[in-house]
Amino acid sequence: MPTYCEVALAVPLRRTFTYAVPASLEGRAEVGSRVVVPFRRRAMIGVIVEVRDNAAEPRRVSDAASGLDEKSKSKAQHRGRGGGTEVTEKTIREITEVLDGVPALPPALVELGKWVAGYYLAPVGEVFRSMLPPAVEVRHEREVRLTDAGRDYEREIQSLQNRTALQVEEMALLQLLEVEGKAVNAARLAKLPGGEAAAERLARRRAVEFARVARRRKARTQKIVAWAAEDPKAKDDAEAQRTQRGAEEAAEGTSVGVSEAEQRIREELTALRGPMPLAVLLKAAHVSRSVVDRLERQGRLLSWEEPLAVEEEPFETDFTPPSNVLNAQQRSAFDEVRAWMQRGEFATGLLYGVTGSGKTEVYLCTVEQALAAGRTALVLVPEIALTLWIGRLCRARFGDVVAVLHSALPDVERAREWWRVRRGEARVVVGTRSAVFAPLERPAVVIVDEEQESAYKQEETPRYHGRDVAIVRARIEGAVALLGSATPSLETFHNAQSGKYKLLELGARVENRPMARVEIVDMRDDFQRTHKAAPLSEKLRSAIAARLDAGTQALALINRRGYSWFALCRACGATAQCENCSISLTYHKQRHRMACHYCGFTTRVPKVCAKCESEHIYFVGEGAEQIEELLRKLYPQARVGRLDRDAVRTKREYQQLLGAFAAGQIDILAGTQMVAKGHDFQRVTLVGVVSADMTLGLPDFRAAERTFQLLTQVAGRAGRGELRGEVLVQTYYPEHYAVQHAAQQDYLSFFEKELRFRRLMHYPPFAALANVIVRDRKMENAARWARMLDGFLRPREAQGLKVLGPAAAPLARLKREYRFQFLLKSPKRSAMNAALAGALDFCAQREIPESSVMVDVDPLSLM
Ligand code: ADP
Ligand code: ZN
Ligand code: ZN
Repeated sequence: MPTYCEVALAVPLRRTFTYAVPASLEGRAEVGSRVVVPFRRRAMIGVIVEVRDNAAEPRRVSDAASGLDEKSKSKAQHRGRGGGTEVTEKTIREITEVLDGVPALPPALVELGKWVAGYYLAPVGEVFRSMLPPAVEVRHEREVRLTDAGRDYEREIQSLQNRTALQVEEMALLQLLEVEGKAVNAARLAKLPGGEAAAERLARRRAVEFARVARRRKARTQKIVAWAAEDPKAKDDAEAQRTQRGAEEAAEGTSVGVSEAEQRIREELTALRGPMPLAVLLKAAHVSRSVVDRLERQGRLLSWEEPLAVEEEPFETDFTPPSNVLNAQQRSAFDEVRAWMQRGEFATGLLYGVTGSGKTEVYLCTVEQALAAGRTALVLVPEIALTLWIGRLCRARFGDVVAVLHSALPDVERAREWWRVRRGEARVVVGTRSAVFAPLERPAVVIVDEEQESAYKQEETPRYHGRDVAIVRARIEGAVALLGSATPSLETFHNAQSGKYKLLELGARVENRPMARVEIVDMRDDFQRTHKAAPLSEKLRSAIAARLDAGTQALALINRRGYSWFALCRACGATAQCENCSISLTYHKQRHRMACHYCGFTTRVPKVCAKCESEHIYFVGEGAEQIEELLRKLYPQARVGRLDRDAVRTKREYQQLLGAFAAGQIDILAGTQMVAKGHDFQRVTLVGVVSADMTLGLPDFRAAERTFQLLTQVAGRAGRGELRGEVLVQTYYPEHYAVQHAAQQDYLSFFEKELRFRRLMHYPPFAALANVIVRDRKMENAARWARMLDGFLRPREAQGLKVLGPAAAPLARLKREYRFQFLLKSPKRSAMNAALAGALDFCAQREIPESSVMVDVDPLSLM
């Protein structure tokens, strides 16, 4: 009986596809294996999520909750024009190739992927695509092949007396295909007289066909050498040979005797390092190839070919990690976690510790504990930058069992790290959001540092929250999920209070260093006194000057990129708008462009108003670029640096800038929220928040929470070393509770107040929330589909669902698409999930394109 499997393919459909396993691949096609399959007219890589021995209906991930009758369900299914759409044996196609000897995804990850697809209503193939390593072993090629019509056409032109120039060209291609007798790589077309154009013409006549195929890339290999195991007798023989050869060598006039060279080789391969690539050995032992060849002929060296590893990231040698002994509060937190780990059951802990309380040290001990127990550990950090910092600490402590994974690594490098983890060579993974899917086996702990960070939320399909997936992963693996924060998200702290998570507290900074003193600077006062709206108040200016005198450092937080927020026409009030989005363009002075921060569109800086042609254009609002410029002007003797995504684009630039700041080569560092994150600079004694108001004004129920978190985080950067720190927060709303509580660094009071607001307004954590956006380039389509969807959702209000909208989304147009928004709330998550699944099926049934309906479960941004 043939075996069938369900393959998840990276297409935007919430279903898997059925393929047959040919006898030749029987036994190799397992759940979790990556396979190459024919899909439509191409070859695609997918992953097997289920194997069975009949070709029953493929299941949609959300069927349980879809609420559709059988008839419409199968209708919806047939709209997917895919490989295995028709589930009769006749049309089921076969898997072409199995890519992995060992399935790429271990069973726990397959289970996790299914959970993600179900919970977030995400296309299952796209979920699995984010879990897999970059497919570096497969290359996609375009091929041309001859059709039957093509053979006829060839005969036809051949029989002509006079051929046109075009026909002559076509002939050349047709004959090549005939001679080859098989499909030909499209790259070869360029060399033919007619080039691609002739092939395109023939394709239109259906004389040839183009196809995309996946080809296995031949692994590049390198020679690895090892010292052959020796027995005492062989040794004696070798000794004899050696003396003899030494004499030969001397006779040849070589100054270095073989015995010496041999000694070094042996030392490298046995005592110092073990087997290594030939090229490395030649360098390390300072020997010539001929010596190695000879030893190999004598059987004293073994060699074999191994896939070529990409150049390893050199380990940093000049870094000595702080060797801290846990203090009492760290110890008691760690002891608790260790007890949960020893029980081997799933638990979620919240390590709630003020900034500078030494959470990192507790993480490291937990990782150590996991390794000691023969298990593995996963450490998630919110930003690529922090993988460098924490990765370095981990490497210093645990050596090369540590792998670093993040999306900015080049594909080959990421694939290499990924497989190191999969093979069990790396047992600790430090990474960003997507590393939650790292193929570690049996992790004992999954750590989520700065769990409140919105960077854990993926804002494209699949729209998952890395922290929440981490918790589910821990549950599946029987591991401890350890969340850490000084300012936990409302949801997390609520769970800790209700007992769903266990609360661990670090109440004080290490060595009882005091928290920085925070002072609010009321910008209205400053204005009244000076009658100028200067971005830096007198108070902040003199505080910075004092730091420069004392030789300590200052950070300035300005949470806006660019030079000015927007360009405003004083004559007609118009602002320069993005062509693709309903948003004003930001002025970037260094690039001398106006740029959209949502879609990347840029245009030249206007000299006159596009609407009324007035020349009275004003640039409004100060961004990071402008603050940097201002600081340079105010303190010409100071060394000023800027940290934001425009100034720092690569990992190297980032390391350089932070390195320079840490080494005291920069006095004032200005930047966006990137300066607020996690860093541990010892000589920062002043943090100036240029404006606390930027995040407060956003139309978002989390605005207060975000502001509070950002202010507390950035305040935590001051006074971490032995020097006392001070924080100045400039604002036009000094009485706002988020600003007030942040100034007092009083998380609990903020939490209580914010929680009351959430309860009153039925927002998370008191309701499940989903954002549904219907979008299209044509406004009529988007509006019509939104109305249709409203017709489906509205009746669900009777089942405990609250439907707000449809209304124009706050970003009514984005990347050329018009957007209508629904906000769904429900006290019951299951009701919400069912309604959403139903809505998506409804859309499929009514031919509303799946890509036009964006569902965001537990959204962080409502824009
Ligand atoms: P958090 O992440 O809680 O803000 P960190 O983990 O960055 O704090 O620790 C703050 C500083 O305290 C670091 O410089 C760290 O090396 C130091 N530190 C941590 N634990 C100890 C300890 N037990 N004794 C002394 N210093 C410590
Ligand atoms: Zn104008
Ligand atoms: Zn735009």
